[in-house]
Amino acid sequence: MLIKREKIVAGNWKMNLDRQKSIALAESIATQHADASSVTIVLCPPNVYIEAVGAAIGIAQGKNASRLALGAQNMHELANGAFTGEVAAAMLVDCGCRYVILGHSERRTLYAETNATVNAKTKAALAAGLTPIVCVGELLEEREAARTDEVVARQITGSLSGLPAADFTRIIVAYEPVWAIGTGRVATPQQAQEVHALIRGLLVTMSSADIAGQVRIVYGGSVKPDNANDLASQPDIDGALVGGASLKAEDFLGIAKAFQ
Ligand code: PEP
Repeated sequence: MLIKREKIVAGNWKMNLDRQKSIALAESIATQHADASSVTIVLCPPNVYIEAVGAAIGIAQGKNASRLALGAQNMHELANGAFTGEVAAAMLVDCGCRYVILGHSERRTLYAETNATVNAKTKAALAAGLTPIVCVGELLEEREAARTDEVVARQITGSLSGLPAADFTRIIVAYEPVWAIGTGRVATPQQAQEVHALIRGLLVTMSSADIAGQVRIVYGGSVKPDNANDLASQPDIDGALVGGASLKAEDFLGIAKAFQ
């Protein structure tokens, strides 16, 4: 049976833009992205601008259930406590977030996040009602040493271990080869499809064929409007996680359109 998965395109703004530019970008996207679109767009601004961006896209008017939603770039795995500078899942929900990016390669490499950390965060996000976007992906030297499958398999099994099978339908996996992030060097559609198929196979063993068939697996790494169509044509690529190109409404919407 052919399963039609709803496409999703998330913009990871990272530590960019100021309040005014964040609001202007969000407003521009909100006015151009139709509620009737088949693609869900998720905006992930810096935490301090989440509510301002939420207001700009009409979250308070109940628009958060629509095709335009808010996400965060990270969260802590615990609910509260003495963790200076951190933010908990329930706080993100309180600010209007429906999604959270977890285990981004920058978190893994710059902040030493392990698969165990990502696993704890994934469970906490789900418990709070957030949809985690769990990132995995190999380094260039790992790809060159033909270790991509082994590395991605370890990240998937480690980051998603212990989840009840039904919870797999509530997560999104982002395959982001580290060598493609912010480098302008996008994976070929075939390279991406191969890894997405591998991930789906792993999800089958961790849940069931039926459940794994429902999981959205998005690609990230130098996605631009001019390469998005080819990526979108692959059977296991269900959307994109976009960094640089998410900072320009025209480019970001162009990518979303490719997944329509
Ligand atoms: C990212 O950081 O998740 C990302 C995909 O960045 P870029 O699109 O700039 O490669």
